[in-house]
Amino acid sequence: MARAPGLSPARACGGSNGLKILVTGGAGFIGSHVVDAFVRAGHTVTVVDNLATGSLAWVNPGAAFHRLDLRSARLGDLFEAERPEVVAHLAAQAAVSRSVADPAFDASVNILGGLNLLDCCRWVGVRRLIYSSSGGAGYGDTDAIPTPEGHPLLPASPYGIAKVAMEHYLAAWGSIHGISGVSLRYANVYGPRQNPAGEAGVVAIFSHRLLTGQTPVINGDGEQTRDYVFVEDVADANLRALERATVTGGVNIGTGVETSVNDLHARLARAAGVTTPAARGPARPGEQRRSCLDPGLAAQALGWRPTVSLDEGLARTYEFFKKEFGP
Ligand code: NAD
Repeated sequence: MARAPGLSPARACGGSNGLKILVTGGAGFIGSHVVDAFVRAGHTVTVVDNLATGSLAWVNPGAAFHRLDLRSARLGDLFEAERPEVVAHLAAQAAVSRSVADPAFDASVNILGGLNLLDCCRWVGVRRLIYSSSGGAGYGDTDAIPTPEGHPLLPASPYGIAKVAMEHYLAAWGSIHGISGVSLRYANVYGPRQNPAGEAGVVAIFSHRLLTGQTPVINGDGEQTRDYVFVEDVADANLRALERATVTGGVNIGTGVETSVNDLHARLARAAGVTTPAARGPARPGEQRRSCLDPGLAAQALGWRPTVSLDEGLARTYEFFKKEFGP
């Protein structure tokens, strides 16, 4: 892990010394929680999002909002006008299946859009970039569980390739242009505001089905595992990455705990008070068998630890969806 010059603690701690932060994807599931955390900490936040999957309703009223595509030439004008000191980059084409169906589109958003953003950062002298990367998609299928940051990056999808590519660009921008960049490699993030129509948000999908009288479907034997991390803990990791601007490179943001889909369903059904067993569907071809991240470096370098237990996070997520979809 390389070290780069950072923001002074006084500037990095917010309050009356709040920073000017631009958040891409700040209308999305994770991005909107990151914006909430930054606003709460006293920073001045500008959101850039084209609302492809995000919602204006989730954007914190304390933040400025600009509906703009990451790839737009107008992004430079916005940077000139706002002159952010820090950028948190969460905007993405975030569906693995879409990246497989249309890798060029995926690369246009996740690589070319990212490069447009990095160029803007360079021109206005952004000092810190916090990038939302992916542990599971980056490391690929592995038996090294929990997976540490030193594990080879072996992405198995165009989405994963783009995520890894951006990590490399970020590192290069650090050495060429002196921008301090950290890549937060998330595990499976879940929580309020996740889109139940998405492909990967199994907690959102199961909650939606349980609340609308449909039976959740478990694909394959259900013993495939993931590392589920609550979205507010992920927002806190972004805040800590802002405050510890000397930390650069890849840092896992996960719990280190493997949970099978069978177990996840049982816990969520319990929270929902449902006793009907899940339905069974065919295994998804190419689906990763195990994924779980070693969070040791995040604890050491960022002082970050997950604080919300799976049962508490599931209960809070279910309550959120009950208000959205419940009777
Ligand atoms: P999301 O789809 O809810 O958020 C993405 C946001 O980016 C949306 O608000 C969308 O409207 C916006 N966006 C998409 N294309 C854009 C474009 N061309 N220009 C401007 N805005 C655009 O997804 P999310 O789950 O909140 O993911 C946020 C970030 O975290 C992504 O970078 C994703 O790759 C990463 N990530 C998510 C997970 C997870 O478990 N959800 C895991 C690892 C990494």
